[in-house]
Amino acid sequence: MLDHTHDPKATSWEVSANGHSDFPVQNLPFGVFSRPGKPPRGGVAIGDMILDLELVHTLGLVPDDAAKALDLARRPVLNDFLALGAPARTALRRALFDILVREAPARPGLLVKASECMQHMPLTVGDYTDFYAGYHHALNVGRMLRPEAPLAPNYLHLPVGYHGRVSTLKPSGTPLRRPSGQRKPARDPEPSFGPSRNLDYELELGIWVGRGTPLGRPIPISEAAQHIGGYCLLNDWSARDIQGWEANPLGPFLGKSFLTTVSPWIVTPEALAPHRIAQPARPDDAPAMMDYLIDARDQDRGALNLALEAYLITPGFAAAGLPPHLLSRTHATAMFWTAAQLVTQQSSNGCELNTGDMIGSGTLSGPTPESAGSLLELTQGGRKPIPLASGETRRFLEDGDTVLLSAHTTTPGHPRLGFGLCVGTVLPG
Ligand code: CA
Repeated sequence: MLDHTHDPKATSWEVSANGHSDFPVQNLPFGVFSRPGKPPRGGVAIGDMILDLELVHTLGLVPDDAAKALDLARRPVLNDFLALGAPARTALRRALFDILVREAPARPGLLVKASECMQHMPLTVGDYTDFYAGYHHALNVGRMLRPEAPLAPNYLHLPVGYHGRVSTLKPSGTPLRRPSGQRKPARDPEPSFGPSRNLDYELELGIWVGRGTPLGRPIPISEAAQHIGGYCLLNDWSARDIQGWEANPLGPFLGKSFLTTVSPWIVTPEALAPHRIAQPARPDDAPAMMDYLIDARDQDRGALNLALEAYLITPGFAAAGLPPHLLSRTHATAMFWTAAQLVTQQSSNGCELNTGDMIGSGTLSGPTPESAGSLLELTQGGRKPIPLASGETRRFLEDGDTVLLSAHTTTPGHPRLGFGLCVGTVLPG
């Protein structure tokens, strides 16, 4: 449903928003920020600034139909706001849009410089699931492990996933201390314990659950989109050597649970409404989807027209003043299942979903070698190091390396909307 907040020609009196690479007035993502020495509160990104929702509330700047949502969106944790669902979120979006495009109000402090603020996790997360919906990632990794049958027999039938660790879901900027664990390279006769030598990133889309669902009530695919409260970027840092040794037979554990970085702005389904596209056709040899995963509207409009990128800054790049090295450029259509299908799959056994649950897409590698969303794939397990402009090479991440993830819409005729950065720097273990 498009409205005046999607008008491609709309501009804001906050001029940094006009033509901004991430946050023009058509985006308006929600988040939680703090000024130095001040407690966290709710805000909305607009250009290089943050709209202070506490002040919008104090000044009574929104109409009655948006007042309840504003009251909850100004808080330091946004679960109650996201639990309201789409109608309330839309009402607040329209009210904030109107404030930001009308004549500038003479209210000092209504906007604060984002560069002077700190951002926080916007939601209290109860559960985190990471899916494996990146078809080419599954294929690439499968080829390394099982060249004769890269995709597991279940892959084309169901969205494969596992339960992740919530305590180490952290906002962008959280440093990554190199994890230690048991490793056993093939050449070593015995395993040993020590810092990971094969530290990697994974470029993923994150899906925030908005309205939850009670225990025992699966979410039909036709209703699943209504339970999505927003999107973000997710870096599912992975210690490949620890993972490779421990994951047999139960799957990811300590090789993943040391840190997962989240981009802290909640980009809403309303902002992305003009950027929905058809889910790509399945491969010819794929079996028909089961009925519980099929919804015509979801197949027609359930994918996102969203480019995703990963960049690397090494200590050598920083010293030489070089621009970040583009590691991966991929697209959200690399998802073999739509976001709504992941939500339906998660709840299909009656599992209760709660507001603030995080659902990861899985690594979104594209079909070409350079669009792979992890170093595991880009360097073929570390065998083909990447040459860098600084003269350095990388198999996996070294201490001092910084990985930046970004995402932006690519729909012709509409301003580009971005997600903000998802950043982490590797510290020695
Ligand atoms: Ca992952």
